[in-house]
Amino acid sequence: MKGLVVKSTGKLYQVKTEQNQIIACTLKGIIRLEQRKSTNPIAVGDTIEYDAEHCITNIYPRKNYIIRKSINLSKQTHILASNLDQVLLIASLHSPKTSLGFIDRFLITAEAYQIPIQIIFNKKDLLSPEEEEMCQQIQKMYETIGYPCFIISTLNAQDINQIKNELTNKITLIAGHSGVGKSTLINAIEPTLNLKTNVISNTHLKGMHTTTFVELHALSFGGSIIDSPGIQELGLVKIAKEELKNYFKEFKTISNQCKFNNCMHINEPHCGVIKAVSINQISKIRYQSYLGILNGDETNWNEWELK
Ligand code: GDP
Ligand code: ZN
Repeated sequence: MKGLVVKSTGKLYQVKTEQNQIIACTLKGIIRLEQRKSTNPIAVGDTIEYDAEHCITNIYPRKNYIIRKSINLSKQTHILASNLDQVLLIASLHSPKTSLGFIDRFLITAEAYQIPIQIIFNKKDLLSPEEEEMCQQIQKMYETIGYPCFIISTLNAQDINQIKNELTNKITLIAGHSGVGKSTLINAIEPTLNLKTNVISNTHLKGMHTTTFVELHALSFGGSIIDSPGIQELGLVKIAKEELKNYFKEFKTISNQCKFNNCMHINEPHCGVIKAVSINQISKIRYQSYLGILNGDETNWNEWELK
């Protein structure tokens, strides 16, 4: 019988059956051995098979997953969630301000994990006309690259309906800095979930890589969301400096015009990317992000490493 893991609490897994019932399952030893690299063999989002004794006997291949380093065993990783259809990055240009550098790093991580991403700029109601104009320009910049953006306020029912549409029948991870309005948004979308807002400090959570926090919440209109205070960032990725350019989607086709195959788009002659930046075909802001990450300018990117 087939089921979906919706919560993991140590040795017990809550599994949603095909009949929409929640049952508690345990794990057979064989699967534990096979997945030695990760500290948790089964993650929220996994599709599994279980037997009459509610033992998990098989895991279906994951289409994607997000991981963290395990705290105790440094070489091991911890899978936070799997089989995501999309991630919604909640940002705000006001109270608190989400930096574009953070958004760009988040986009790179999502590209590395092969998870489609949409960006939501919340707290529209706090923006001055000038700020709203700026927000629209940022929206245009990201949409041109291929990242859908929404400018919303959780106070606006129409905006909430728009986001509901995006969530319907999908497994969605909700991410973003503390205070941007994730819980408020989720509660507006699905009031029965009644998530607590901002109860635990981030610094505290950084060290707590437990699965207890990760849970798949079913949405009454179809689909489910994962909201975990521990997933403000998407987690661990390792990207070699030479690979970084591949995660800037808009560089890809234009780099065919570079003279050198292995062009890093820094200062090489006849570089298609540099030329595109000079004629505003590629955004200067994104290009600056690229150079900034290469130079390791930002130090507050916790789980992020350039090899
Ligand atoms: P989280 O940490 O991302 O879950 O953020 P919360 O949902 O706890 O929201 C943080 C604060 O922002 C709360 O005081 C909310 O009332 C407020 N907030 C959320 N959405 C909006 C919005 O659209 N407009 C305004 N003005 N405040 C909002
Ligand atoms: Zn180049």
